[in-house]
Amino acid sequence: MEEIKLNLPTPIETIIVDGVSFFLKRDDLIHPDFSGNKTRKLHYYLQKDFSHIKKLVSYGSNQSNAMYSMSVLAKINGWKFEYYTDHISEFLNKNPHGNYAKALENGMNIVEGKIQDIENKDTLFINEGGRDKEASFGLEIMANEIVDWQVSNNIQELNIFLPSGTGTTALFLQKYCSLLTFNNPLKITVYTTPCVGNSDYLIKQFNELEPNSIYHPNILEPQKKYHFGKLYKELYNIWLKLRKQTSTEFDLLYDPIGWSVLLNNLDIFGRNTLYIHQGGLLGNISMLERYKRKYKDLE
Ligand SMILES: *Cc1c(COP(=O)(O)O)cnc(C)c1O
Repeated sequence: MEEIKLNLPTPIETIIVDGVSFFLKRDDLIHPDFSGNKTRKLHYYLQKDFSHIKKLVSYGSNQSNAMYSMSVLAKINGWKFEYYTDHISEFLNKNPHGNYAKALENGMNIVEGKIQDIENKDTLFINEGGRDKEASFGLEIMANEIVDWQVSNNIQELNIFLPSGTGTTALFLQKYCSLLTFNNPLKITVYTTPCVGNSDYLIKQFNELEPNSIYHPNILEPQKKYHFGKLYKELYNIWLKLRKQTSTEFDLLYDPIGWSVLLNNLDIFGRNTLYIHQGGLLGNISMLERYKRKYKDLE
């Protein structure tokens, strides 16, 4: 296996949005070939010995950041990568782009339809979006980075905010931050918002990974129901505003919803708030293309 060097700890910067100061953890800079939090979730597979494995199998959306990161993981290990998805549109089939194109370049074998029996000793199965217990390995390391930074910057009470899909990242981050600050004066509260489904869905996801609810992050719902992956001009405008004010590119699927919740709750997030930039920029290629096709007058 090729040696993989992650850029750890990922840097923490200060940014100002609408006149309010936030800390920003740049997990998007963790590795040039992996996507932000998917690298954290897959860290376990980079660290442990999987030399008996010949094939990686997973499933989910055909533009997902997780799919792309898994294709990188398979490639560097010399594994086959088989990925199941519901449907590939005519358009994508004819014009592969974004995560899909890059994953194909890395040798992904994409299969339309339901996942088959995978009872094979040399096959590694990873759940959709990396929603697995193994994700805890990389997120414990991330929690350690944050607590070390908190101590050296003398911040007693810290809020962490990150938008959720499966909720895996937020859950394990809260769990390890709680364990690391247990019995000492530091306090860390992790807040998240559901970008896929609603709070009930997210709580269900949390419970599957960790039954003890004292380790669950706080959930704030968006003011409005957004359907995952759908295009909303107001979300695009938040993304554009962030790029203008911070000179940082955020992801277009999760971050605009995250920031809208954050900026609507400044009573909580007005100070000592750390936002996690979870990467996903390769996914922006297909999102931007769709935005430009739908709204001709975009900046
Ligand atoms: C996957 C992803 C998320 C959601 O992570 P979960 O652990 O599934 O909640 C958020 N932001 C970006 C950019 C992602 O790629």
